[in-house]
Amino acid sequence: MSQHPQGSGGSVNPEARLPAPIPNDYGKKWRAGVLGATGIVGQRLVKLLSTHPWFELTEVAASERSSGRTYEEAVRWHLDGPVPDCARGLLVKSLNPTLDCDFVFSALDSSVAGPAEEDFARAGYPVVSNSKNHRMDPDVPLLIPEVNAGHLDAIPAQQKNRGYSTGFIVTNPNCSTAGLVLVLKPLADAFGLEKIFVVTLQAVSGAGYPGVASMDIHANVIPFISGEEEKMESEPQKLFGKWDGRLFVEAGFGLSAHCNRVPVLDGHLECVSLSLKKIVSLHEVREALRNFQVGPELASLPTAVRQPILVLDGDDRPQPRRDVESGDGMAAVVGRVRECPLLDIKLTLLSHNLVRGAAGAALLNAELLAARGFLTGRASVGKPESADPVYR
Ligand code: NAP
Repeated sequence: MSQHPQGSGGSVNPEARLPAPIPNDYGKKWRAGVLGATGIVGQRLVKLLSTHPWFELTEVAASERSSGRTYEEAVRWHLDGPVPDCARGLLVKSLNPTLDCDFVFSALDSSVAGPAEEDFARAGYPVVSNSKNHRMDPDVPLLIPEVNAGHLDAIPAQQKNRGYSTGFIVTNPNCSTAGLVLVLKPLADAFGLEKIFVVTLQAVSGAGYPGVASMDIHANVIPFISGEEEKMESEPQKLFGKWDGRLFVEAGFGLSAHCNRVPVLDGHLECVSLSLKKIVSLHEVREALRNFQVGPELASLPTAVRQPILVLDGDDRPQPRRDVESGDGMAAVVGRVRECPLLDIKLTLLSHNLVRGAAGAALLNAELLAARGFLTGRASVGKPESADPVYR
């Protein structure tokens, strides 16, 4: 669990961190596979798994271009530092659901993720997905643990509907939706949401690799990201909706999104105007955001941040380059909370598209699944005896 100071700055003060305990200090870890391990999101997952206290990476899978080679040979590594030791020598496999692991993360391209994730779930693997394919399925949880952990109640119904035994699919939202919904959560709880208008400025890493051609994005803004506005306008309705025992009933607030690609490497900035059901002061809005804290269950998860929203006071923050790593990439950073002449309130938010919006989100989802007993282990590997939080 990360802790970050509230107020100015916006990033974790390394001196405020508590020491990390020795990994694997409470018995065996769950064995994780990563589908799409060679991609931009897959690499983040591989890196985060290399030091994870509950999970160990045992399998990597990708396309025919990569399979049959070692991970180090197949991957075009984009992150700082070398390819982690745990992954370097792993043989990249195909998408055959016979991997030696207890569950899989999916960071697959959406052209293949739909049927591949179903194959793995049918074969008994819990699938923790980043891809868009199953997000809006009526029996698949679209999960942000801080927002709608109760949606995991849909898993038994999904297994029954689809004839899955121990397998199931859980998804995390689109990268731009993840930050927006996290910031809206305390406002929805305290004041109720009526209308939201959002304009995004989204980083190039959100498009995977090689993504947008440099000649298109250099010194430019592209006012279109295929399918993005539709995802941003639909996913929050499910995230704030209710599981009625049979399907998800969507929330009914108004939401309009304009999505733009900008020449930033990591971090989606979003300019949001919103109207609330209750009339409130700016001070009350800031306090609701500042005071948002997760409960003890989530606080015990290694990737969770106790206060996942960081409110900055400076007029020119948040900025992607300066604030994107806040809370090790798991915090949403909010600034410029002010009155809106059209709606009630406007603010600017930033979240890390590859961490809070993808790999970190999937990891947190898997941790919650583990904590709630949904990862049963496919062979001899059992649940850790205790789940001490890790202070990062
Ligand atoms: P990416 O860099 O293009 O990586 C795609 C991965 O899918 C690679 O490992 C690739 O393997 C694999 N793949 C492609 N075609 C395949 C096939 N026919 N069979 C098996 N594997 C195949 O994309 P990304 O940005 O990491 O995104 C991965 C997923 O996460 C996408 O569904 C994306 O929409 C979603 N997502 C991305 C972000 C983000 O910020 N980037 C955020 C949230 C969600 P090879 O290397 O072998 O080709």
